[in-house]
Amino acid sequence: MNAQRISKVINKTMEIGRQQISLGNVATYIPELGKARKDALGLCISLPDGTVYKAGDTNIRFTIQSISKVISLCKALELRGAETVFSHVGMEPSGEAFNSIVELDLQSNRPFNPMINSGAIAVESTIIDYVSFEEMLEYTQRLCSDSGITLNRQVYHSEMNSCDRNRAIAYLLKSKDIITTNVDNSIELYTKMCSLNVTAESLANFALLLANGGICPGSGERLLKEETVRIVLSIMLTCGMYDGSGRFAVEVGVPTKSGVGGGLMAPVYGRCGIGIYGPSLDQKGNCIAGCEMMKHLSREMCLHMFQERQSG
Ligand code: GLU
Repeated sequence: MNAQRISKVINKTMEIGRQQISLGNVATYIPELGKARKDALGLCISLPDGTVYKAGDTNIRFTIQSISKVISLCKALELRGAETVFSHVGMEPSGEAFNSIVELDLQSNRPFNPMINSGAIAVESTIIDYVSFEEMLEYTQRLCSDSGITLNRQVYHSEMNSCDRNRAIAYLLKSKDIITTNVDNSIELYTKMCSLNVTAESLANFALLLANGGICPGSGERLLKEETVRIVLSIMLTCGMYDGSGRFAVEVGVPTKSGVGGGLMAPVYGRCGIGIYGPSLDQKGNCIAGCEMMKHLSREMCLHMFQERQSG
């Protein structure tokens, strides 16, 4: 696809996204997130040859929220190995909301997967004694090729004052011996990771790294093991869009992770990285514009993983 055609597709994609914004709402359960500009919208597509396509609000900083679950999972897999990590958390879709607690107690000994809150808190507990927040911040900057990523203290404190549900989840996990380390430290690391300020461009960079099998396309340096990328992308495909993951996989066919701050991070394996920002969310907590935009991009650019790529 030539540059002119891609620009045309991007313009149309932005138009489709804008039409969705009024149908969703900005998250308010973390009070500080409610201050986001509802009509903000940014799209960034990064290619392995260094070409970057940007439209709209690609430089606005917003908190990464659940997309940090992917980063923590990468770190845990690399530091502790898959066997240890998956003795604390499963790899199956939950079919429940991201912050659900009921099925965790009734149906399971472990959180269903690392992309929901219970699973991510369990993942943090596997690394808490091995890595500091400062090291995780630096790791995030490296994976996103963005040294401007910092902790958003307002969002962090806002969430720490309103995260009783996550604390309840963590203590339940402790009662089941899934968390054996300090619960408060796990919650603190989890919440700090959710409160990192990124841009649509940083998310596109991280997506490109994953799409490129863990090798930084610019420097040629391997930042993630092949096995880590394989596990992470598979879990993103089946669990990355909360309880909308199945439909999204059918309609878009690209492993994607969303966050309640409005971010979407979508690695198109072997092709490109996509980052989207739009804080207006659908009922499931996904960026409402981003979902339609990804559908359009998938159709127009033949991004679905089970679809032949056409030339032209
Ligand atoms: N920090 C948010 C929470 O724990 C993340 C949720 C999300 O983005 O899905 O509720």
